[in-house]
Order: sequence, then structure tokens, then C-alpha cells
Amino acid sequence: MIPGAFAYHRPASLSDAVALLARLGEEARPLAGGHSLIPMMKLRLATPQALVDLAAIEELRGIRRDGDAMVIGATTTMAELIGSAELAAAIPILRETALVIADPQVRARGTIGGNVANGDPGNDMPALMLCLGARYTAIGPAGMRELPARDFYQGAYLTALHPAEMLTAITIPVPPAGHGWAYEKLKRKIGDYATAAAAVVLTMKDGRVAQVAIGLTNVGDTPLFAKAAAAILAGSTLDAPTVDRAVAAAEAITSPASDGRGPAEYRTRMAGIMLRRALTRAASRAR
Ligand SMILES: Cc1cc2nc3c(=O)[nH]c(=O)nc-3n(C[C@H](O)[C@H](O)[C@H](O)COP(=O)(O)OP(=O)(O)OC[C@H]3O[C@@H](n4cnc5c(N)ncnc54)[C@H](O)[C@@H]3O)c2cc1C
Repeated sequence: MIPGAFAYHRPASLSDAVALLARLGEEARPLAGGHSLIPMMKLRLATPQALVDLAAIEELRGIRRDGDAMVIGATTTMAELIGSAELAAAIPILRETALVIADPQVRARGTIGGNVANGDPGNDMPALMLCLGARYTAIGPAGMRELPARDFYQGAYLTALHPAEMLTAITIPVPPAGHGWAYEKLKRKIGDYATAAAAVVLTMKDGRVAQVAIGLTNVGDTPLFAKAAAAILAGSTLDAPTVDRAVAAAEAITSPASDGRGPAEYRTRMAGIMLRRALTRAASRAR
């Protein structure tokens, strides 16, 4: 329960953090809220030689509107996200999801950047980012680049980030006015990671699905973007046979582990049930 020795750095500016990460190389890791990294270090599952704490870098914080998108600084905490009225109005699924992550203490420290960069399939925000078509801004020794969330997740704890790169912001296109949304998460107890969870963002026109995107949490090595399931639902009235086919398509792309949250078959079925509930609730909210 005691981490190995490490050097601690607390740069005051983004340029200092980038320079530090470049100089320290692969043995260094950014530290945000620390609520995933520090437990991993205590278990010696992560053994970085140096931590670059991002907490003092003002330019990484905050939530702002930029045209048709919301831009969220990487070290914005879950609590700040929950407290933003502007974000709740523009992209309400973010608040709904943040509220079912862990507990108030963890949400007071845990950041959106840490949640999406961690690469743990149990993190809840990445499935939303797939649904919403988010882009991540990364900075590193080679400069700045934009990474679509849909191309970011490559395996458990494996992302498209290069060594010495870090995320500075998450840009999320604002869904159309009147869209429906829902995040349904099955967990064993308050504060738990998902046994299975489903995110749905949709628009309806004349009683039919105009657009729909579906993301699944913790039922594979990465968050899953259920493209085939969404294609089945497009144009439908969400009638029972069509929903059954879409749920089957979503379940087919899952490959959860059998673990303390249940056997793989159970978790796959729960993903399907979470998707059914999310579709019903999202449709009921669409105008
Ligand atoms: C009891 C408990 C329950 C939890 N339950 C849930 C849950 O239900 N759902 C959920 O989603 N999460 C859960 N978490 C995790 C929590 O939300 C974490 O805070 C979050 O996953 C990581 O955010 P962080 O800011 O703490 O990141 P850190 O722990 O500081 O970092 C996590 C990883 O991301 C990297 N990183 C951090 N910031 C950046 C950046 N800007 N650029 C590049 N890399 C970066 C770090 O180097 C590290 O590898 C739980 C945690 C605890 C302790």
C-alpha cells in the first residue's frame, strides 16, 4: 500500500509541464486528481519515477463555449463539471454521468482529463466522448494535435497518446437543441465502477429516430462505440423488434471480463438492458 519512490514536480505553466515531460521521458507521468494513478502506484501496478502535477496550471482549467462546441480544460474536476449550468444546458448527459462517478470526495479531485486519458475501460466519461464525437487536444514535444475520441482508445490502458504527451482540453460539439440523452449504469453499490453501462444521444423527427449514437462502458478492453446498433435504429420508431435487433448488435461487440462484477455472459446481458433503458429514457427526453 506504499508507492515506490518518485520525484515530484509542480510546474506553474503549460510550457514548463511540456518541457518537464519531454526531459523526464517515459518514466514520468502527468498527475491530475490522482484518484486512479495514486491507487495504482500504491498497488505497484504503476511505478513512475516522476510525477508532473498539473494542478497549478491555470490554463488547463475551466469550461467555455467556442461556437458550436463546449471546450473543457483537462484539469476541470467532475465537481466543477457538475456545477456548470452552461454545460448542463448544452450537453446534459455530461452532468448526468458525472453524478454517477464514484462519490463526492473523488469527484472533488478527479478530472475530466484524467478520466478520459486513463484508458481504464471502467471509466465512465469515454463512452460519452465516443457518442458525442469529442476531440481531445494533446500537446507534447512535437507540438499540439487534435485526436478524435473515436480513434483514441486502443486497448486497456493503451491510448493514442505518445510518451511525453498530455491532454490540455476536450472539445465536444453541442448536440442539437431538443436532443434526448441518457446514461444508464449498473453498479454493485454507490461509488462503484460499472458492471455495464450505456450512453445514448439521439434526435427524433416525426416520431422516428433521426440520429442516434451509442457508447458502452466496461464491457470490453476499451469503451465501445456501437455503430451497427445505431445504424439499425436510425429511421425507426424505436419499435420493439427493431430495438431487439439493435440490442443484439450492441451485445455482439462486447467482450467483458468475468470478474467480481459477474460472469462475462451476465455483463453482456446487462449492457443490453442498460441500452434498452437508455434508449427509452433518451427518447422520452427528446423534443
Ligand atoms: C473509490 C473510487 C471510485 C471510483 N469510481 C469511478 C467510477 O465509477 N467511474 C469512473 O469513471 N471513475 C471512477 N474512479 C476514478 C476517478 O474518476 C478518477 O479520478 C479518474 O479516473 C482519473 O482522474 P484523475 O484526475 O484522478 O487522474 P489521475 O489519477 O491523476 O491520472 C489517471 C491517469 O491519467 C493520466 N493523466 C491525467 N491527466 C492527464 C492529462 N491531462 N493528459 C494526459 N494524461 C493524463 C495520468 O498520468 C494517469 O495515467 C474512481 C476512483 C476511486 C478512488
